[in-house]
Amino acid sequence: MKNKLFEPIIKIKGIGPKLEKKLKDKNIFNKIDLLLNLPTGCIDRRFCPKLDQLEIGKISTVFATPIKYNFPRIRNLPSRVTCEDEFSKIDIIFFNSRENYIKQLLPLNEEVVISGKVNVYKNKYQITNPDYIRTTDKGSDIKKIMSKYHSVSGISDKTLQKIYSDEAKNLENINDWHDKNFLNKMKWVSWSDSIKRIHNPTEIKDVNKNSIFYERLAYDEIFSNLLIFSEIKKRIEQIIKEPKKINNKDIDTILQLIPFKLTEDQNSCLKDIINDMNSSKKMMRVLQGDVGSGKTIVALIASYLNTKSNFQTAIMVPTEILATQHFKLFIKIFNDTNINIQILTGKTKLKDQKIIRSQLKENKIDILIGTHSLFQEKIEFKNLGLIVIDEQHKFGVKQRINLSQKGSNNTDVLLMTATPIPRTLILTNYGDMNISTIQNKPFLNDNIETLIKPLDKIDEVINFVNNKIKDGDQIYWVCPIIEESEKLRLTAATKRYDFLKNKLNAKTSLLHGSIKKDDKEKIMNDFISGNLKCIISTTVIEVGIDNPKANTIIIENAERFGLAQLHQLRGRVGRSGSKAHCVLIYSSSISETGKKRLKTMKESNDGFYISEEDLKLRGFGDIIGYKQSGEKDFIIADPLYHSHLFEIAKKNIDNLEEKSFKNFDTLLKIFKKDKVLNIIDTG
Ligand code: ADP
Ligand code: MG
Repeated sequence: MKNKLFEPIIKIKGIGPKLEKKLKDKNIFNKIDLLLNLPTGCIDRRFCPKLDQLEIGKISTVFATPIKYNFPRIRNLPSRVTCEDEFSKIDIIFFNSRENYIKQLLPLNEEVVISGKVNVYKNKYQITNPDYIRTTDKGSDIKKIMSKYHSVSGISDKTLQKIYSDEAKNLENINDWHDKNFLNKMKWVSWSDSIKRIHNPTEIKDVNKNSIFYERLAYDEIFSNLLIFSEIKKRIEQIIKEPKKINNKDIDTILQLIPFKLTEDQNSCLKDIINDMNSSKKMMRVLQGDVGSGKTIVALIASYLNTKSNFQTAIMVPTEILATQHFKLFIKIFNDTNINIQILTGKTKLKDQKIIRSQLKENKIDILIGTHSLFQEKIEFKNLGLIVIDEQHKFGVKQRINLSQKGSNNTDVLLMTATPIPRTLILTNYGDMNISTIQNKPFLNDNIETLIKPLDKIDEVINFVNNKIKDGDQIYWVCPIIEESEKLRLTAATKRYDFLKNKLNAKTSLLHGSIKKDDKEKIMNDFISGNLKCIISTTVIEVGIDNPKANTIIIENAERFGLAQLHQLRGRVGRSGSKAHCVLIYSSSISETGKKRLKTMKESNDGFYISEEDLKLRGFGDIIGYKQSGEKDFIIADPLYHSHLFEIAKKNIDNLEEKSFKNFDTLLKIFKKDKVLNIIDTG
């Protein structure tokens, strides 16, 4: 079936090359993109007062007869047309309109319909630049509710509204993809009717996010997302791999090498992972747990067991500092084994890189820890059995797919994320993966106190920090993110360092992304050994850094950070269970949402709660990561209104029959999901 929905917008009446370009800038390319750009609200033009019943500020549609023109000869003064009905008078005011045009619109002594907002000037009612003027026979065209859209520069809202409204009205009926009984149960109408209605509302509430029409469209967006994930998952599950051979003896051995007892949650996650590794299906698992919940050790154990099954392990982390920290931990714990562990980052000397590459190929390296550089093309593993990706919040489907192609069918994949994922996002972001959760941390959660301070009280904060230093504490001080560019960020950090180093009564160092590897390492070592008391840094410390003795963190410009990031940063302190403090400093330019974020931080130290709140404040937006930049994964669904639809969609998808996937071709195309499967099929 040839479907007009997917025709380019230039084919729409009223859209020429100029408007086409503007709409394309808003990611509207085809008719369907236009129709899915739902109204932001509506305008009610049903109020139809007689001229003695006008109300100031109200959008009104009046029937009146022009009786007098006034066209001033002085530039910049508006033109005025006085109109009357049987009860009173009103002035219609025009700025920047030509005389002839006005005369044509409002011929004397012929009744017309005028719609616009009523205001008062010098004690007289008037409508300035009315939205609509029609002859009375067309009056009912405007006496109604009209959808409203984000305005597009260079085109009037009125014209835009007409384009949307007409396009929706002309929409051909499409065979609906959902089961009739289900639609009835939800009280929903067909997809086509929902689109028609939302662009041509008959009630104000039709365009609300909780109207049945809006819900139906949101559901389809959610459904198509989950459906594609379920399909990806199915295809991955068809891969057959050589099972790992993990036995209890090896498990006992490694548990004895670890200086503490695993928590119950750690144990149960480990069990999931071992089951996956021992199965003939490829592991695709996310290990989620709040900051400080002890994920690293679980990954370490999995790596050990993978080595014992004669496979290689790759561990990828986002920063060099974190790679070094993991490397040291692994070396320490595997000290008495013959496991060969190496580290590879962008800063590794070329000579050493070469050695590592050849050793990898010859299967002489068991565990390789590194940054993104692990996945350069020239890096070849002989026998990669496990990939662990630590602290990768932004790792989308496409990257996961690329990644599993780096290894072979035998390569198990474990993602670790320290930002607990809200339930709805698990279904969307990780619908292709299985999830294990560390719910409880090894130490209680209530040891970190969060304080909020305005920037002009920075002296108090400095005093506070100096007292902490006196008590033997160690400090992180995170600098403001003033500018986006790395260079300016650096200047800001340097400036802050110069300001603070004389005020803080302890040895202080500056840490940022551009510091040389050796210097960085020295700073981190000094900090962890306790030689260095205070680190002033950009957000490079955000992910994963573990110094159990540091118990105070100051975050400047806290209002500029997202909740997840703030929680991550705060997670740097209180890691041994000791009393810890996090001071959030905000500037006077803080927004309402900024305030809400800081309040959430003060109220809670529970990463799962914070991530749910974060989602509500941010909306879904771009969360999956196979889209071009600027495109969004969710344009309709909103976490504040539609969370419940995720569970419903999930249940329906789980109950689908195998062959029914193709029923949803059009739906997948509508939400551009058809291309996702191409990525998988072609690699
Ligand atoms: P994250 O989940 O943020 O990566 P880490 O793996 O860095 O957390 O662990 C946080 C801290 O807790 C580390 O210092 C680690 O040694 C410690 N830890 C982890 N598991 C346990 C445990 N079961 N008992 C005691 N301490 C633990
Ligand atoms: Mg970690």
